[in-house]
Amino acid sequence: MTVSAGVVAVQGDVSEHADAIRRAADEHGLDAEVTEIRRSGLVPDCDILLLPGGESTAISRLLAREGIDEEVKAHVESGKPMLATCAGLIVSSTDANDDRVQTLDLVDATVDRNAFGRQKDSFEAPLDVEGLDEPFPAVFIRAPLVADVGADVDVLADWEGNPVAIRDGPVVGTSFHPELTSDSRIHDLAFFLNEEASF
Ligand code: GLN
Repeated sequence: MTVSAGVVAVQGDVSEHADAIRRAADEHGLDAEVTEIRRSGLVPDCDILLLPGGESTAISRLLAREGIDEEVKAHVESGKPMLATCAGLIVSSTDANDDRVQTLDLVDATVDRNAFGRQKDSFEAPLDVEGLDEPFPAVFIRAPLVADVGADVDVLADWEGNPVAIRDGPVVGTSFHPELTSDSRIHDLAFFLNEEASF
């Protein structure tokens, strides 16, 4: 079976995410056909969707300008899985603590842009993630801090007392960049092992 995957490609690590999706799909005997999303009209045909990191202000502006924002919302509202990483998580949240980010309100969380970044620009840490047997090598780059999550949000991992991987229904969000190692278990968790999502 072929899975149709969309990687929102207005900014961020598109090819790394595409590779991770293909590897995760392969583990399940599936082929992934990856489409880079830069305009409206493509998301409705996607089974799974990835919203990468980058700069959340720019991403939210481009999504709105291209009319992709409403399609992403419809994807999630129909229960199909989405992985939102770093700036993608900021854009997906209900509150980014920054008026310049037009949030999509898909993940019930308040995030603080660049909170880790003020202390340390970038770091890697082995992270215990719910559902994974071994720690995940998490790369944080000017990462957002998840300050608060709603009652229906599952915290899958935390770092120094703050959530850094969360799940709200069909959406998994991470403050780190899971595409920057050859380990595709976070993509697997979000797309193929998420019991709250289906495609
Ligand atoms: N700090 C960035 C922002 O606010 C996110 C950084 C990232 O995606 N690596 O958008």
